[in-house]
Amino acid sequence: PASVEFRNVSMRYGAVTAVDNVSFSIEAGKLVTLLGPSGCGKTTTLRMIAGLEIASEGQIMIGGKDVTRLSAADRDVSMVFQSYALFPHMSVIENAAYGPTVKGLGKEVARDMAMSKLELVGLKGFENRFPSELSGGQQQRVAVARALVLEPQVLLFDEPLSNLDAKLRRRVREEIRELQQDLNLTVAYVTHDQEEALAVSDRIIVMSNARIAQEGAPRDLYEQPANAFVADFIGDANLIDVTVKSVADGRAEVAIGPVSVPMPARGLGIGPAKVAVRPESLLIGHEADAMALPGTIKKCAYLGNHLDIMVSTAVGELFVIQYGARDMLEPGMPVWLSFAKSGVTLIPP
Ligand code: ADP
Ligand code: MG
Repeated sequence: PASVEFRNVSMRYGAVTAVDNVSFSIEAGKLVTLLGPSGCGKTTTLRMIAGLEIASEGQIMIGGKDVTRLSAADRDVSMVFQSYALFPHMSVIENAAYGPTVKGLGKEVARDMAMSKLELVGLKGFENRFPSELSGGQQQRVAVARALVLEPQVLLFDEPLSNLDAKLRRRVREEIRELQQDLNLTVAYVTHDQEEALAVSDRIIVMSNARIAQEGAPRDLYEQPANAFVADFIGDANLIDVTVKSVADGRAEVAIGPVSVPMPARGLGIGPAKVAVRPESLLIGHEADAMALPGTIKKCAYLGNHLDIMVSTAVGELFVIQYGARDMLEPGMPVWLSFAKSGVTLIPP
């Protein structure tokens, strides 16, 4: 497998900037996810790795080699498209053998190569069917086999689960991750689903409006979001307006309404800021506590393995989750919210 590197890459379509001065790298043999809402530039980024679009500016390296101006055919990269893009008039094996056939490798060789990849994705016995005779999950496997057939240096997935039903999605994402790890593939994976990204990735690049909002390991992004966009996009977060009162030795004293809470300053200084608080990082107490934020239960919903709770406070309505079997909390009940050590992050205003 090869590494991928973007150096200050932009893509413009007339007045639209689809990707704006983006830099990142994907280590060889790792799965990196581009995560972000619709229209933020994920597919365009993948297409530039594949050579299906030529960057307007910047440099793209694959395996340490500058491929910025190379066409798709010269890049040794395959893509699994969102729609699978199977050829409807070709059988499963003809679809899977497409790459080596076009390369002129000879019918027998191409079929053998295709057959080994079809076995790998569990489609042995289906080789003579047509795409219309397969389920969505099976069609997706054909697309994966076709992408793997020439053993590319880099494999790209564009929202590969979007046409599958919810139950199947979880299984297929595990299969893609296992395949990537077993074959030691370099994969760039695109999704708008934060849970999917957390589940499959070595690293995640969060995109917003054609730019990178934050990059990091899944746990870092959840526990240490860099800004309000990431805090809100990955998991749920309460975004609270606060004031940093003092900073010493990298620790900040933060006024959250009437209470003062110490936390890592993360480079911020005295003045207005925000705190991103995970719903499970707000702990509900039932006795008056001068160190905790007073509030009143507004709503409490029973959701099987957890309770969804809304609490009205001086800093707005806060969303709290309590896991495990708990007693329901009645609207109007006074409570005191304290802040857990993790899942409470100071971010810029
Ligand atoms: P995503 O995959 O994250 O949903 P895209 O990369 O498809 O986003 O698109 C990013 C932006 O670029 C969008 O505003 C989209 O409309 C625009 N865009 C993408 N491809 C083209 C194109 N061929 N011509 C004009 N605009 C495009
Ligand atoms: Mg897209």
